[in-house]
Amino acid sequence: MSDRISRILKKEKFSKADIVKLLQTNKEERQLLFAKANEVKKEYVGLKTYYRGLIEFSNICAKDCYYCGIRAGNKNVRRYDISDEQILQAVKFAYDNNYGSVVFQSGERMDKQFIERIEQLLIKSKNITNGKIGITISLGEQSSETYKKWYNAGAHRYLLRIESSNKELYYKIHPQNAKHDFDTRLKALYDLQKIGYQTGTGVMIGLPFQTFEHLADDLLFFKAFDVDMVGMGPYIEHTETPLYHHRLLLLPLEERFILTLKMIAILRIMMKDINIAAATALQAIDPIGREKAIKVGANIIMPNITPTINREDYQLYENKPCIDEGADECTNCLEARIGISGDDIGYGEWGDAPHFKNRKKTDLYNI
Ligand code: SAH
Ligand code: SF4
Repeated sequence: MSDRISRILKKEKFSKADIVKLLQTNKEERQLLFAKANEVKKEYVGLKTYYRGLIEFSNICAKDCYYCGIRAGNKNVRRYDISDEQILQAVKFAYDNNYGSVVFQSGERMDKQFIERIEQLLIKSKNITNGKIGITISLGEQSSETYKKWYNAGAHRYLLRIESSNKELYYKIHPQNAKHDFDTRLKALYDLQKIGYQTGTGVMIGLPFQTFEHLADDLLFFKAFDVDMVGMGPYIEHTETPLYHHRLLLLPLEERFILTLKMIAILRIMMKDINIAAATALQAIDPIGREKAIKVGANIIMPNITPTINREDYQLYENKPCIDEGADECTNCLEARIGISGDDIGYGEWGDAPHFKNRKKTDLYNI
């Protein structure tokens, strides 16, 4: 049986059928996949993990994604918006602790006040760190003008998960209306890439109605889109969301977890020089879930540096880890755990994906 998997792993390019077979591997077979992914990681991006200090600065959101605990329709959430001073303090914390980069993430808002506030925060974050902190933003779908404004203010990486690259499945997990339009989301990704951002996307794994074929298509979508970064994690149900009604269709959490590790490993082999994040949701299932992802191809980790008082209100899913832990504690325990997975930490480095530079070179040839 393992011969069949070894044969696939030797191929230059995986077909959809190959990917499905890799996703269906048993306990013994998947060790081959994981070992190969770690080899590829070592050769192309090195056994090094980079930090992105994650600042979840507000849970106010104008959208109603069916899976998410902070959707506008959930009236049982205490809404918060951290002050600019606190956000900048968190940026300073990341800089002083040699994190290299931060991620700004929040619910989605497109109003003018929000757009200008982010622009100012980006400029100030650069100023207080001698221009050195790397900034990734994850603030949802915006107009091309807004993306440009934020790029010019200092952001250089953007994360916008496609959530599912299959349109039909996309509309099973989102309302079908102008605010949640699949083609608009795709266009946003193209805009980001065109503007010059290192562009990241991703999906949730183990969604109700999702098949192995959907997941194989997601990986092929990342490849066709030529993304620089991917962040994908297990879907974790939240009681106060519409998707919770379909919980009986779900795989057990441990299986969603293993499936996520397989997705990461296959992607590392398919896209050797990109950045792949070990999603926080992995840690909600297994305390050392992110470290396990690092062993099978991931190279980015996003320690939560949001001020502790607000953490419990940013629950996209239930059982979120570290909500009562200070940033300091997280940093220390994390370093030790990453060491055990065999990686060094890229302290003080931006840790851009080599793929971005390689892609730019090929783009130039294509002009
Ligand atoms: N509002 C922004 C950023 C915050 S949400 C946006 O939507 O892009 C960040 C990510 O959290 C989403 O892309 C989604 O993939 C993930 N997420 C939301 N609810 C989740 C859940 N129940 N389980 C796992 N991941 C979830
Ligand atoms: Fe809002 Fe993002 Fe949650 Fe959708 S996933 S409801 S846009 S925070």
